[in-house]
Amino acid sequence: MYDAVIIGTGPAGLSAAINLKLHEKSFVWFGSAGYSDKVGKSEKIANYPGLGLISGNELNQRFFEHAREMGLESTDKKVTNVMPMDDYLMVLADNEVYETKTLLLATGVLTAKSYEGEDELLGRGVSYCATCDGFLYKGKTIAVFCGAPRYEHEVEYLAGIAEKVYLSAGYPDCKLDLPNVEKITPIKAVRGGMKASQIELHGGTVIDIDGLFILRNAVAPGTLVPGIETDGPHIVVNRRQETNIPGIYAAGDCTGRPYQIAKAVGEGNIAAHEMLEYMAKGK
Ligand SMILES: Cc1cc2nc3c(=O)[nH]c(=O)nc-3n(C[C@H](O)[C@H](O)[C@H](O)COP(=O)(O)OP(=O)(O)OC[C@H]3O[C@@H](n4cnc5c(N)ncnc54)[C@H](O)[C@@H]3O)c2cc1C
Repeated sequence: MYDAVIIGTGPAGLSAAINLKLHEKSFVWFGSAGYSDKVGKSEKIANYPGLGLISGNELNQRFFEHAREMGLESTDKKVTNVMPMDDYLMVLADNEVYETKTLLLATGVLTAKSYEGEDELLGRGVSYCATCDGFLYKGKTIAVFCGAPRYEHEVEYLAGIAEKVYLSAGYPDCKLDLPNVEKITPIKAVRGGMKASQIELHGGTVIDIDGLFILRNAVAPGTLVPGIETDGPHIVVNRRQETNIPGIYAAGDCTGRPYQIAKAVGEGNIAAHEMLEYMAKGK
């Protein structure tokens, strides 16, 4: 059983990880190995105190160096589900289960909307995890939304299992070129009865499928943690960064505007201290 799990290697997750490490807690830290895509995209950051004008890439590099100096290690497994149990939490990432006393959601804000039908058919032909569910589609026809180049290896893995893959890439210049992979225009909806059986593309084309894999950077909070209180795309927290579920905290963009690095770092710090208090009470 871990003391904590942190989901997110952006500024909020890093800030919490530094503080938990200083307090010598055992924790698993999930998130992109390149740290925050969002920070990396910023050409110039002018409002983070002490660093003057700095590019997003440089700030990410400094975050990375700080983590390395502190001996922090992250894993780029994607968390697909969190299940609150009576007095602990179960976290599912790439088909592995982790048990923890506390959890921090520092997942950033999900800007993309779900596809029509996605929420209803999740677990019934719609999956967020190639490693977990890929084997179910041996010799079948699937569609895949690949949200970032870092998921291309998952598309390759799926193409090795399925007979045919319809690929919608969410970024320009997708270089994937495999004989059984056909690139398609953006997906609008997924449809089906008991199970997903068709996708509809923007423009109206309908394609028959046996399954749809959605490989996005983030999962909507309500899907990731069933029962968590949300307000639109944001997780509802109090000033202690507590969510409505005991032991689960949230920090950074996922809790609401302003979407700023300094806010994310501050909230990550508060959350870590509240998590320490929660652990100390032995709840
Ligand atoms: C173009 C651009 C310019 C910006 N300029 C500025 C600026 O000048 N100043 C400023 O203060 N802010 C700026 N921002 C905003 C800033 O980047 C964000 O506020 C900040 O990155 C939020 O940090 P975060 O830790 O909350 O989330 P993010 O940085 O979004 O990090 C989210 C993390 O969660 C991980 N994650 C999400 N879901 C999962 C999952 N299911 N499993 C595992 N890991 C998961 C991701 O891999 C990532 O590591 C800018 C943003 C953009 C896009």
